[in-house]
Amino acid sequence: MKPIIKKGITLRFTISLLVIAAILLTMLTSITSALQVNRTSLIDNYLNKNESYSKKLASNTDELLKTMQENIAMIASMSVRESELNHQMIDDLYQANSEYFNSIVIADANRVVQAYSPHNIGISIGDKLNSKQSEEAVITKTPFISEPYRTTKTGRLIILVSAPIVDHDGTYKGFVGGTIYLEEENVLSTTLKKHFFGDGSYVYVVDKKGDLIFHSEQERVGQHIKNEAVQKVISGQSGSQEVTNSPGNVFLVGYAYEPNSSWGIVSQTPYEVINEPLQQLVYRMLLHAMPFLLLILVLGWWIASRIAKPLNTLAQFSDQAILNPMPAENIPDIHSSYYEVSLLSRSVKIALQSMNQDLTYLRHKVNIDELTGLVNRRGFDSLIADWIESKIPFALILFDIDHFKQVNDTYGHVVGDDVLRYLAQQMQQIFSNGDMACRYGGEEFGILIRHGGLDRAKALADRLREQLASTISPTGQSITVSSGISSFPAHGQSAEQLVMRADEALYYSKENGRNQTTVFTIKELQEV
Ligand code: GH3
Ligand code: MG
Ligand code: MG
Repeated sequence: MKPIIKKGITLRFTISLLVIAAILLTMLTSITSALQVNRTSLIDNYLNKNESYSKKLASNTDELLKTMQENIAMIASMSVRESELNHQMIDDLYQANSEYFNSIVIADANRVVQAYSPHNIGISIGDKLNSKQSEEAVITKTPFISEPYRTTKTGRLIILVSAPIVDHDGTYKGFVGGTIYLEEENVLSTTLKKHFFGDGSYVYVVDKKGDLIFHSEQERVGQHIKNEAVQKVISGQSGSQEVTNSPGNVFLVGYAYEPNSSWGIVSQTPYEVINEPLQQLVYRMLLHAMPFLLLILVLGWWIASRIAKPLNTLAQFSDQAILNPMPAENIPDIHSSYYEVSLLSRSVKIALQSMNQDLTYLRHKVNIDELTGLVNRRGFDSLIADWIESKIPFALILFDIDHFKQVNDTYGHVVGDDVLRYLAQQMQQIFSNGDMACRYGGEEFGILIRHGGLDRAKALADRLREQLASTISPTGQSITVSSGISSFPAHGQSAEQLVMRADEALYYSKENGRNQTTVFTIKELQEV
């Protein structure tokens, strides 16, 4: 029975899979390394850009503050010349400096307001300024830029840029203060807001404590910022680095220290901005690689088929050939450029050929009688069955040597065997090629006469019988045989039946005195 082999994974599938896996892996590796290289260079780009940008803003701020200090100093020196500044003059001065300051205030050495502009800022002439910063101004008597602070009078968060008023003989007369209202439109916001990238990057400025002086979201001004970049910049360093803020967002940060005011200017870009160009890169790479990928896939599939096909044919064929043996000439040559396949193909062919030869030999041996070389009973029966199946008419003669026991008894078994061989030779001389002689068993023989009628069979049987009777056998004397004849399809439809009928006729010959031939008829049977 043919054992059932589950159709598992084919060689072609495996090789194809290997090719696809190799391609995908190669692609993955090249995309990953391209992404890595590009990510690093994009990060470097943004870090450098933000660093140089924050440096540029720091130097702009430095210049701005210097100009503001110079302008305040100029107003201070004017205040000395004009012993009493009238409203018109201070308004004119404020107008000239309105791009820098939100307000200008002149106070005397007791911090009492002498003049101010514009008029709607919530103070009056004669008010005393209470802030620590105004106190610092009159104590130090030097120009300075204050830290951000909230005024007690108006509650505004401001920065004070102040310059002392000192008269010609060196007497301190008070100070001029220019203010920056941090929570309103001011010089920093107008200067820094101009610089907007549109990619999510933004700028903020912290004072030396890390409090926000400027932020693109104005409501955040005044908040304390605590991250690595801010800590570095307020300690006087400039540079760039990646920073993760407290909600976990990553930024590419550049920072620069502005020494005049001790402020830190920070320019930063959200990390996500690099994702889009990287995605674009992957799309572009895939798009460019696609035709090559397809080509390699098709090529891989083709190579896989080329490798697998001869092996597959060989496997299929040898499976078939072993289960249903075929003549050697039907075994095809399987050509392959692969050495192993050719080798295997050759071995399979040789193995199949030799198996065929063995089979032919065995079949032959199974159906041949060793002693006489005639076909044995098995071959005889199977040929009868074949002819019956093919509806080939034939006659069947069965012979039995008369008194063979006596031959054995008188001359011994060896001579007995010689007599059997001698009889086989005699049979083969008389019958033609299309007929078949066999040793049916013991000293009984049979002959199948293809397309032979009963008359021809009887004539041949008698001829053999007469020839034997007139020829010297190995015993030194002649032997005689008795025979019986039946025919297909007249006397039966199976080997068993036909043999039985011939045997009955043979028995009749024996009974009737031996050395004679009997054709089976119903009449003779009845007589027996
Ligand atoms: P009958 O005329 O009635 O056939 O007499 P018979 O002596 O031939 O009787 P039977 O057919 O019963 O005897 C068959 C004998 O043939 C018996 C057996 O010893 C002998 N014999 C059978 N096979 C062989 C064989 O292969 N070699 C030899 N030497 N003798 C065999
Ligand atoms: Mg016998
Ligand atoms: Mg006999």
